[in-house]
Amino acid sequence: MIIFYSSEKIKNHLHGIRSRQKTIGFAPTMGALHKGHVSLIAAAKEQCDVVVCSIFVNPTQFTDLSDLDKYPRTLDADSSLLQSANCDILFAPEINEIYSDEEINAKKNNVEDKSWMMGKTVDFGLLDKVMEGAQRPGHFNGVAQVVSKLFRIVEPHKAFFGQKDFQQLSVIRSMVKQMEMNIEIVACPIVREKDGLAMSSRNRRLSAEERKSVHAIYDTLIIMKKNYKGASTEDLKMLAERLILKNPLMKLEYFDIVDAETLQPIDDFKTAKSAVACIAVKLSNVRLIDNIILY
Ligand code: AMP
Repeated sequence: MIIFYSSEKIKNHLHGIRSRQKTIGFAPTMGALHKGHVSLIAAAKEQCDVVVCSIFVNPTQFTDLSDLDKYPRTLDADSSLLQSANCDILFAPEINEIYSDEEINAKKNNVEDKSWMMGKTVDFGLLDKVMEGAQRPGHFNGVAQVVSKLFRIVEPHKAFFGQKDFQQLSVIRSMVKQMEMNIEIVACPIVREKDGLAMSSRNRRLSAEERKSVHAIYDTLIIMKKNYKGASTEDLKMLAERLILKNPLMKLEYFDIVDAETLQPIDDFKTAKSAVACIAVKLSNVRLIDNIILY
């Protein structure tokens, strides 16, 4: 595996690969890698000639700066894991390889920076107003900002994202379409621990007691999947809330049943074309998200 720290150098290298008619698969991450990330690399290996993984803890998508500070940084272990997953290229830039001083200052001054749109107007409509977008204002602008920059550096043919961040996938798809980027976005299934907990870099911040209880998140989603037929979305929401709040260590930030395309809440299963149950739970120090496709 080759490791690049410089945007310019990886760009030149990938230019050579592209001119030899090889396809490039790309998985952007924030590191602290686990089997969920490895599954993206495996999917990219299957579908592309050369696989690039980036590790960059992106400050502009954090609404809570203490969360940014606490985000685990484990580059050596990540690099070994990627090596054993046969990843071809790791891109691990420092912040100034990605952002200009103006962009860093905009973040410091809490100004929502739209310069990544490069003169275009990218409007996510209602996609970024619900769920994560509602709880974390500016989060998806930061995600789109960094992903658009990484896409311009790597110029992949295909980019691989986890379905765990369901809303993020919708926002990225919308961005790629609006910016007319010629990149196929591939969604990969959620990888889980044995007890059903969705793998996440944040799981390592759970206390032992919290770790024992958080299987309730997936248990709740499974109960939703088993019971949605014939039920009302309101009843399911109340049931989900009861199941989560049974555990005193967990607070429910939201539980929504939404249309998979529009991400807008569904009132009636009879008329909705698709349905995804999405959940965010807050524990003392950690916030976890998960989802399940009902149909
Ligand atoms: P992150 O490092 O958390 O920004 O995640 C990088 C990518 O890995 C995103 O596309 C995530 O959706 C994906 N990912 C994270 N956790 C999982 C998981 N448990 N299963 C599948 N994909 C995941």
